[in-house]
Amino acid sequence: MSSMGRRIHRQLGDSKYLPVPASAGSFFPTASLQGTPLDYAKRRVRILHNISAPLGVVLLLPFVLVLLVIRLVQVPSNTSLLPSRNLLPNIRAMNDSIDAPFVVGCQVPDTSRPRANAVLVILARNKELDGVIDSIKSVERHFNRWFHYPYLFLNDAEFNSTFKATVFNYTESKVEFGVIDKELWDFPSWTNQEEVKESIALQGDAAIMYGGMESYHHMCRFYSGQFYKHPMLAKYDWYWRVEPEVKYFCDITYDPFLYMEERGKVYGFTIIIKELVDTVPNLFRYASGFRRSRNITSKGMWEVFLQKDKGEKESGPKTSGVGDQFRIPDPEMIDPEAMNGEKYNLCHFWSNFEIAKLDFFRSKEYNDFFEFLDRSGGFWNERWGDAPVHSLAAGIFLAPSQVHYFRDIGYRHTTIQHCPGNAPRKQLPRTPYIRDPKSKKDLEEDRYWDQWDIDRENGVGCRCRCDTDIIDVEGNDGSCIPSWADAVGGWTSD
Ligand code: GDP
Ligand code: MN
Repeated sequence: MSSMGRRIHRQLGDSKYLPVPASAGSFFPTASLQGTPLDYAKRRVRILHNISAPLGVVLLLPFVLVLLVIRLVQVPSNTSLLPSRNLLPNIRAMNDSIDAPFVVGCQVPDTSRPRANAVLVILARNKELDGVIDSIKSVERHFNRWFHYPYLFLNDAEFNSTFKATVFNYTESKVEFGVIDKELWDFPSWTNQEEVKESIALQGDAAIMYGGMESYHHMCRFYSGQFYKHPMLAKYDWYWRVEPEVKYFCDITYDPFLYMEERGKVYGFTIIIKELVDTVPNLFRYASGFRRSRNITSKGMWEVFLQKDKGEKESGPKTSGVGDQFRIPDPEMIDPEAMNGEKYNLCHFWSNFEIAKLDFFRSKEYNDFFEFLDRSGGFWNERWGDAPVHSLAAGIFLAPSQVHYFRDIGYRHTTIQHCPGNAPRKQLPRTPYIRDPKSKKDLEEDRYWDQWDIDRENGVGCRCRCDTDIIDVEGNDGSCIPSWADAVGGWTSD
């Protein structure tokens, strides 16, 4: 029973709300008590000083109400009026004039159109095979079983034969494996390796998340400014980044690449949150300096990453990063005090999911930006993630109309998730997805996904079944969706 139901039951069941015999006091009629039971039931009693009702009605009313509550609670959860949906916060509607979900709810996947020139990219290590399988299974179940986009696996070492053979079992799509050349992964030739290794060790001592892990720095730099230079990506126009151990919650029944192409979108995200300040103490200073040095004016995205004056806590970048003593100084461009009075709000698109146009990264502007950052040494002396780098680049070069919030894509990695409510009246029956009909586990999994959540007002999802151990990041303190909403015209409902 819901807490509301319990409350009603308690109130109605409490004897002090039931009429007491007339003799109990002057509140009740003191006239004759004789007559048939029917006469007795018809007798009017005062409830409040100016409201009266037949005694029979007053006596029956509590029981009728209790029955009503029980009935409401027993209706199956898909159609119930009372249960869990009331415990969830409201989903706010966002202005959709600049950016709107491509599809609200489900559609019958249209596989008749030619595919986009796109690829699913998974960077992984051999030891991450289990997590990779989880991710492929999820992508296939919720999207790629209809669209069959190819996969490209990348690794700074060779994938072993077990990895390769196993991956083929989980998809019918074309799969390719690529090794990342040292030139794209290792320290650039001009870095003083001794110095930066010391700096990385210091970041480890300072307990900066992944700061002490050299491989993580290589990975972040690779995703920031190198992955799109890999020869095996050259033939593609679009990429969808997938990581080991990610989970999709909703069916994606349309082709996101084609919609992005049609709507002039360049970069798509599903989660935007705040970065750990210690990983990027000076990143914003460089990004801001880059903008200024090239006289770039905002097209409306830069503001997404700016701390608002009022109401926001002082959590902007510090001036003393761990690696400061190693930083290549650039006093002309990087004035620590100025930055046009702007402060980084630490927001970044969580790039472990991203769908983007590769030409954005391949452009001269983006590469100038990456080069500028790279020369500063921040990928080693600090632990700049590719997420804030991609995000600030979007802030510098793009307009909000070129960015897309995949609000309908339910997604989880580690302990952060975005999971939309299901769109009312826009759900469609689902075809089972069972790889091996003899496998009990496969059947169970499919049954699980067959019972999707109740629909919710302003929900945009298709057959989503959200995890319930953590809540949607969208409404959390650490979420930057309010900042994104500002850029696209604000909220249109509470
Ligand atoms: P987190 O999600 O930020 O905790 O970082 P992960 O450890 O998941 O790394 C992000 C992505 O980079 C994942 O796809 C990893 O598989 C990949 N990755 C990280 N470090 C390495 C590495 O040294 N070699 C390879 N090949 N992939 C890596
Ligand atoms: Mn990860």
